[in-house]
Amino acid sequence: MRISASADWPRPHVAVCGSIHGNEPCGALAVQRIAGDFESRALAPAKGTVFLIHANPAATALGLRHTPEGDDLNRLWNFAFVDELRPEAWGYEHHRALELKEPLRDLDVLLDLHSAKTATPAFGISNGEADIDEVAKHIGISYLVQSWYGLADKVIIGFLKVAGTPAISVECGAHGDPEIANRAYHIALRFLRATGAIGDGPVTGGDDPRTVHVVERITKPSEEFRFGAPWSGFQQLEPGTLVGRDRVTEIRVGRRCYAVLPNEEVEVGDDVIYLAVDT
Ligand SMILES: [Zn+2]
Repeated sequence: MRISASADWPRPHVAVCGSIHGNEPCGALAVQRIAGDFESRALAPAKGTVFLIHANPAATALGLRHTPEGDDLNRLWNFAFVDELRPEAWGYEHHRALELKEPLRDLDVLLDLHSAKTATPAFGISNGEADIDEVAKHIGISYLVQSWYGLADKVIIGFLKVAGTPAISVECGAHGDPEIANRAYHIALRFLRATGAIGDGPVTGGDDPRTVHVVERITKPSEEFRFGAPWSGFQQLEPGTLVGRDRVTEIRVGRRCYAVLPNEEVEVGDDVIYLAVDT
């Protein structure tokens, strides 16, 4: 959906993208609620165009991270599949990434909304372009993650980074948090205010987020792998803490760090936890 103010259309193009992962409905609910606000004229665009994107409606309808024949829509944005996978093998998400590619190219700034398996304070992942870190100060998040190496070229904010477009992904909290949809909505509203897309009130977002760097990405080594404790997001791990173990491997931290997006239930070989440090 696209809502324009006539004054200085067509720029800037501001987008809120929700539910790139179908088991994270808070983003789709937030963009639908904002669309309703524009339709009822409770909100009006101050300048430019607001794009409200429900990224993965097929997976959302199924309540799954991605469709059974498809793939993780937030790991396709380097478009390697175009050369590596014959088109007959593409699933819904491959087609969806290609469909969204052109409109995303024209954006000036993007917010991408997610939720997490385990409890976490709301945090953003910056793509480091232009003034996105300044915008991040006003959207009501507790932490701002920089340097998410390893995922950089596959995620939607990485694709926008290549184009030089400022973008941020926000993990709003746990999937099952009763407040999650409301929180995603308010983060999106603050983002629209901070980018000047709406002018319905003062730009506020609480305290400055604390900036951290993701320095380790740990993949699940085996089916037997278990965490040393039921980690939650941004829990502090002291040096020597057992992150997790299986029958042959034991992973401990060598310095104080934060647990980011711990999820014991991923497939073997997928990311089970990330570790971040203060700057
Ligand atoms: Zn997600």
